[in-house]
Amino acid sequence: MFDQLTDKLNNAFRKIKGVARITERNIEEPLREIRMALLEADVNYKIVKQFTESIKQKALGVEVSKALNPGQQFIKIVHDELVKVLGEKAEDLKLEPTKTNVIMMVGLQGSGKTTSSGKLAAYLKKQGFFPLLVPADVYRPAAIEQLKVVGKAVNVPVFDIGEDRNPVSIAKKAVKEAKDKGFNVVIIDTAGRLHIDEELMKELKDIEKEVNPDEILFTVDSMTGQDAVKSAAAFDKELPLTGVVLTKLDGDARGGAALSVKFVTGKPIKFVGVGEKYTDFEKFHPDRMASRILG
Ligand code: GDP
Repeated sequence: MFDQLTDKLNNAFRKIKGVARITERNIEEPLREIRMALLEADVNYKIVKQFTESIKQKALGVEVSKALNPGQQFIKIVHDELVKVLGEKAEDLKLEPTKTNVIMMVGLQGSGKTTSSGKLAAYLKKQGFFPLLVPADVYRPAAIEQLKVVGKAVNVPVFDIGEDRNPVSIAKKAVKEAKDKGFNVVIIDTAGRLHIDEELMKELKDIEKEVNPDEILFTVDSMTGQDAVKSAAAFDKELPLTGVVLTKLDGDARGGAALSVKFVTGKPIKFVGVGEKYTDFEKFHPDRMASRILG
């Protein structure tokens, strides 16, 4: 994960390793390399600018430490700035076991929405919740079938939509069934499209109005870099997103989406997908991710 970025940042750190103290001159080259590494990782340019300026200021202002040498201090500053752009602290889902919680999964087709719905159901089940999966992508019969397969694999019931092909009424009926049968989390797998269009957004807004979700999670393929961030921002304008599920991190050597999405949308990454298996799903921890990035 993020191997290229990790290698490049470590190269930058090598330049400052043995210095006796941090000066404007000896951090110039490492800072330039950090800037390049982030740009090559496809991090939003505004973040890159702010990030490197902040590191510079902090590095030059840092007190001499007994515990850390100047090189280590510099790395710590970079680490702390990474934690900041990644979202500072881990954010929990706002769910209460005693009520019927509703989670809407939204995102573009192929982003990993259906897979993530299943992964999330398995994750919540492990935490003691009783989830119900709901197929609301009525345009692609294959998507409905796929959710059934997913449900079976993670041993979570899938709402039977019968002949209904209206996503709003499906969502409404599913929530009612959950209430009647004692499920406390309804996970609605909404339709995705290859591109954002008005019709899709209207449908999502209609579902949102009908079921008033506790969480609206935007699933996005981390390998699509700044396109991922753009689509997140576009969805966020239309729907009150509560968080992001960043998928396919296992195949992402660059990390630009992970490092940009919180800054651009203001919405936290809540989970990451790290493989095709249903257990390849983790709660997102900015500090752990920062440490991983630094290698
Ligand atoms: P949807 O169209 O948004 O519902 O996307 P799918 O859930 O069908 O996922 C599209 C493809 O991405 C499938 O082949 C999934 O197995 C794959 N996928 C989803 N999440 C991950 C992940 O975290 N890592 C990897 N490697 N593949 C993933």
